[in-house]
Amino acid sequence: MRTSDHVAAHGTTDGRLLVGGVPVDRLAERVGSTPFFAYDRALITDRVAEVRAAVPASLRLGYAVKANPMPAVVQHLAGLVDHLDVASAGELAVALDTGCDPGSISFAGPGKTDAELRRAVAAGVTVEVESRTELARLVRTGKELALRPRAAVRVNPSFAVKGSGMRMGGGPQQFGVDAEAIPSLLGEVSEHDVDVVGFHVFAGSQNLSADILVQALEKTVDLVLELAPHVPGTVEYVNLGGGWGIPYFEKDQRLDLAALGSRLTDLVDGRLAPALPEATVVIELGRYLVGEAGLYVTRVVDVKESRGRSYAVVDGGMHHQLAASGNFGQVIRRNYPVALAARATEEPAGPVTVVGCLCTPLDVLGEEVDLPEVEVGDLVAVFQAGAYGLTASPTAFLGHPAPAEVLV
Ligand SMILES: *Cc1c(COP(=O)(O)O)cnc(C)c1O
Repeated sequence: MRTSDHVAAHGTTDGRLLVGGVPVDRLAERVGSTPFFAYDRALITDRVAEVRAAVPASLRLGYAVKANPMPAVVQHLAGLVDHLDVASAGELAVALDTGCDPGSISFAGPGKTDAELRRAVAAGVTVEVESRTELARLVRTGKELALRPRAAVRVNPSFAVKGSGMRMGGGPQQFGVDAEAIPSLLGEVSEHDVDVVGFHVFAGSQNLSADILVQALEKTVDLVLELAPHVPGTVEYVNLGGGWGIPYFEKDQRLDLAALGSRLTDLVDGRLAPALPEATVVIELGRYLVGEAGLYVTRVVDVKESRGRSYAVVDGGMHHQLAASGNFGQVIRRNYPVALAARATEEPAGPVTVVGCLCTPLDVLGEEVDLPEVEVGDLVAVFQAGAYGLTASPTAFLGHPAPAEVLV
């Protein structure tokens, strides 16, 4: 996808890029400082509606809070989706504050501490256990609190999902219990101690291929149906994961949502639901719901030439938006889309390298990007910043102030 497509998705007025209908340069005055993250509420709402229209009505749509845990964003999404997936007690607190039903919150992630398990059991959420020993600690926690914990087993499948930006299943993994070990694990469970409600399978992230995602979902459904008879009670919960990607780089094509949705309908309504009629079937999406709704906005503090190359130095950088610098799981550094916020539709004047203010060569936000003539004071907008931005960045590195965040 080209930068002009991202500009068009956000919209402009007189060439000024918009967030939530407000020109970014005006929003910068409202925020009062740069850099900042701005998230477009309407784009999030629209994205949820698109997903709803594509997937079967029987499917519960979940939001993976770690993609963007800003409380206002989570609150907004809590009113739109059916389920919240958290991966720490901090995220759990944000999710509970939305007022959503604790029964529609699941807690995943390796290394849950005893204190986190206590909080989760007390809250009444579903704990997605990642190991045999974690299940044992959960049972012990339930006894201590005189509460029956609700658990789902996270399964590490034998298959991996090809083409994922981040692999989280298949082969040896810190995530989940190996599929082949689950029958014996469930054989040891006493229904008296813990309510094992079902399974969670999440094998990979940032995938742009509907075909590959469907193949992974088919294998996931096969696996769940194979494991279901080993659950001591009724299977009430099946979390099929997600991993739906968004286009970050110019060569990236948008995920074919219609194709994915129709095959998901066949799979869920045609196979899974008839076999497990009591099960609530969940998908959990993170970046797909929020990533494209966010901009990281930073101001140019210096413009310089060095041996034939033009540089724009901004007041932000990788300490706020690590992913755009290429240091968050990328093998080859590629540019995230960037534009001048107040002249977003102007013709480019030539390549400029946009660098952050950190004293390290890693701090590059855009290498040789085609931009209009850049001046000191211009606002640079980095697109696709709504997920894994602020909270996935090393904010303390170099000791600069934290950025603001706004939901518009
Ligand atoms: C991180 C995570 C997600 C969300 O991943 P995205 O790539 O943002 O969609 C979903 N489920 C689990 C268990 C996760 O850890």
